[in-house]
Amino acid sequence: MTSYSNAFAVFGHPIAHSLSPVIHEMFADQFELPMNYQAIDVAPGNFDAQVRSFFSQGGRGANVTLPHKRDAFMLAAKRTEAANRVGTANVLTPEADGTLVAHNTDGAGLVRDLTERHGIDLREQHTLLLGAGGAAYGVAWSLLDAGIHRLTIVNRTAETAQKLVDTIGRPGQVQARYWDDLERIGSFDLIINATSAGVHNESLRLPFSLAGSRASCYDLSYGSAASAFVAWARTAQARHALDGLGMLVETAADAFEIWHGKRPDTDPVYTHLRKKYPRN
Ligand code: NDP
Repeated sequence: MTSYSNAFAVFGHPIAHSLSPVIHEMFADQFELPMNYQAIDVAPGNFDAQVRSFFSQGGRGANVTLPHKRDAFMLAAKRTEAANRVGTANVLTPEADGTLVAHNTDGAGLVRDLTERHGIDLREQHTLLLGAGGAAYGVAWSLLDAGIHRLTIVNRTAETAQKLVDTIGRPGQVQARYWDDLERIGSFDLIINATSAGVHNESLRLPFSLAGSRASCYDLSYGSAASAFVAWARTAQARHALDGLGMLVETAADAFEIWHGKRPDTDPVYTHLRKKYPRN
């Protein structure tokens, strides 16, 4: 039987290609901390039992990715404010008495990557968010906190976009539009692709009129999953055509700080991973 004493882990399905183990090991090296970080594949339906077993055997912290983020939120007895408003969790930590705490650091990671790594001032940005799944919930709130001006949310399933708009509850600032409206919706300063179309090797039909020459375009995914959107943004002559590799590293840094009380330097890790995942 595997022992998880003093271990950290990422739970997902599939999980074999997760970059989390290498990111956390590189962070730990910066502080000369020993690190036992594993990627654990958990099929839907087995999440609660496996996570409880991990923590009961001394597991010290977990990252959670697709498709378990909602289950992680539901499993935890305590939730941070960011997790509560998003309704999903990507980090779980046990308190001394074993109580599990759910965190959601996705939105904060995106905002840090946009502002600190790429130098984009989010204030007053007229923003288009494509997608209304779990990641879109996280980033919508954080973008609003960061001072964007107006937020338009468009999703393939229109009802889901409307549900996110209703949940946020700022009718003057946040609105939903239909995908078919994209042709006549005008242009945006910031366009965030939070769909998983690229992951499924499906293409998005996006008019070039959405992105002006000053636009920043950002796909939350990275590697080949982001290629089509990044290529679209370049062809539209957007100012920035970015993928989500930096968000991944920043989000991991938040988890590392929650667990170890130390803030890692994300730049060398980002630079290392960027060589493996060029923005092609
Ligand atoms: P979900 O499964 O919760 O949501 C998927 C979203 O994509 C839905 O809005 C869905 O629309 C939409 N979608 C899927 N296929 C298509 C398509 N062919 N055309 C249009 N829309 C489509 O996934 P998440 O929200 O958790 O993740 C979304 C993306 O963000 C993934 O690529 C994920 O890898 C990435 N991500 C990156 C992170 C990072 O750190 N860089 C962190 C978290 C996520 P519908 O409602 O109609 O099904």
